Amino acid sequence: MDILPVYLVKYMEMIAMDFYDCHTHSTFSFDGKAALEEQCQAAMNKGLAGICLTEHFSVDSRDVSFGVLDYENYHNTIDCLRRKFEGRLYIGRGLEIGEPHLPQCSAALVKALAGMQLDFIIGSIHNIDGVKLRNYMQGKSKEQLYTAYFKEILAMVETADIDVIGHLDLVKLYGAIGGYGDYAFAEYRDLLFAIMKCAIQRGIGLELNTAGWRKEAGQQYPAHEVLRLYKELGGRIITLGSDAHKGQDVGADFERAKELLLACGFNSCCYFVNRQPFYVSLRKAGVKRETAC
Ligand SMILES: [Zn+2]
Ligand SMILES: [Zn+2]
Repeated sequence: MDILPVYLVKYMEMIAMDFYDCHTHSTFSFDGKAALEEQCQAAMNKGLAGICLTEHFSVDSRDVSFGVLDYENYHNTIDCLRRKFEGRLYIGRGLEIGEPHLPQCSAALVKALAGMQLDFIIGSIHNIDGVKLRNYMQGKSKEQLYTAYFKEILAMVETADIDVIGHLDLVKLYGAIGGYGDYAFAEYRDLLFAIMKCAIQRGIGLELNTAGWRKEAGQQYPAHEVLRLYKELGGRIITLGSDAHKGQDVGADFERAKELLLACGFNSCCYFVNRQPFYVSLRKAGVKRETAC
């Protein structure tokens, strides 16, 4: 058989890759703009293999998402859509929990989660001391802002029951908005090292969140140095997430994300079922269990 031209091989690799968007929101979240079915249909239209809904959730009464999620309805809607899209699209039921480590909320969180059947939990920091980052940064120096944020991430990773860290350096969005600018990786390396070490020890992964490419931050979350550090220290659980709140953003920039992961030394990424990671090769089709390279 003739050898295929390089461009064709490249193209075939591209279309053979199974993408799972593991960070999406629907109108079950306070800020979602698309119905859950619309998000699933968007994933189908983009040719994704699967989508995981990760609706905002918090048991902290100071959080904007407090009391918003109608879990029973969410659960049933996903069951219904799983039947509708059966054999064509994997649909995961997840949550993005804000500040899941706060001691004053832990009993309420454990109780709430006990009544849920979830495939995936993202842990994210949106607030510090119950204050939105956008407001928290007022009157703070750049160093105070970034240090406080990464310390909060570390506190979350040390204790929370989560599968991946959501948008690990989201704070750079507020750095961009507030005029502080991006952070220098070297200045926060010790803190980031501690976060990575702890995450790996506890079996917690990272998400490569592509929303930053669409926002003022101008780059993905987290920075490539953080991805490389996680890989160097032995981390292998990476999920791809668009953080889409509307259909057009589902699966956004996943080819670019794949190239970045390959450049950082990863050969696979994951999606979750029943809170267990399933590995997908970044180079070819197929889903493998526990065989990440
Ligand atoms: Zn978030
Ligand atoms: Zn989100």
